[in-house]
Amino acid sequence: MSNNAENIIRDNINRVRENIDLALQTEGLHNNVELMAVTKTVEPERINMALRCGIDLIGENKVQELLSKQDYIELDGVRRHLIGHLQSNKINKIIDSIDMIESVDSLALIDQLSSKAISHGRQIDCLLEINIGREESKTGFFPEMLDEALEKAAVCRGVNVRGLMCVAPICDTESEVRSYFSSMRKLFIDKSSQNNDNVHMDILSMGMSSDYVYAVKEGANLVRVGSVIFGSRRY
Ligand SMILES: *Cc1c(COP(=O)(O)O)cnc(C)c1O
Repeated sequence: MSNNAENIIRDNINRVRENIDLALQTEGLHNNVELMAVTKTVEPERINMALRCGIDLIGENKVQELLSKQDYIELDGVRRHLIGHLQSNKINKIIDSIDMIESVDSLALIDQLSSKAISHGRQIDCLLEINIGREESKTGFFPEMLDEALEKAAVCRGVNVRGLMCVAPICDTESEVRSYFSSMRKLFIDKSSQNNDNVHMDILSMGMSSDYVYAVKEGANLVRVGSVIFGSRRY
């Protein structure tokens, strides 16, 4: 039974990797794309199955869930990213458990993360989350706020801004969702060419189960995939 569960996860991961390769080929792209398995609501046993199938990057969106599972996961050689909104009073709890925070969504958070990182004797890798669809239900910087965020990062030596992240709006058509990803890529290229202290932009994190193929076609080099690997979530 559990062997069967692992085989299903392995097949799912292989299919995602094939789809990524095909998307790159179709667009004539030659960049590497990192596959993150999003493990929110997934129990440790099944997370470990994915790790045995070659996953080495996992994402959680809640601090408490990330911490409560970590003792049961075979973390050797595995990187963990936080991908959900981080409340400042939880920074201390996770800063030593996390390799990157992809969901940095305010100037205040950049400041607070930096101070905490410095007091823990480290620098923390971050992505700036962009609210590319300007949706009220989502957090993140609007594109026109990005310069201010990068200027803030430039005076916060505890952070290292490695790139941008977004969750695209739910769209009816391929061309609509691709236009959001394409805007993200333009922002990414534009800001990567600027010179700011504490900013070394090399990661464009976009694409989830429903749209990762389009994200890859538009230049994502990190995709965050959950339900297509683990099955639909039961909350
Ligand atoms: C849940 C989540 C994902 C993965 O969603 P799926 O549709 O299950 O692939 C990706 N990114 C973020 C920020 C998430 O919260």
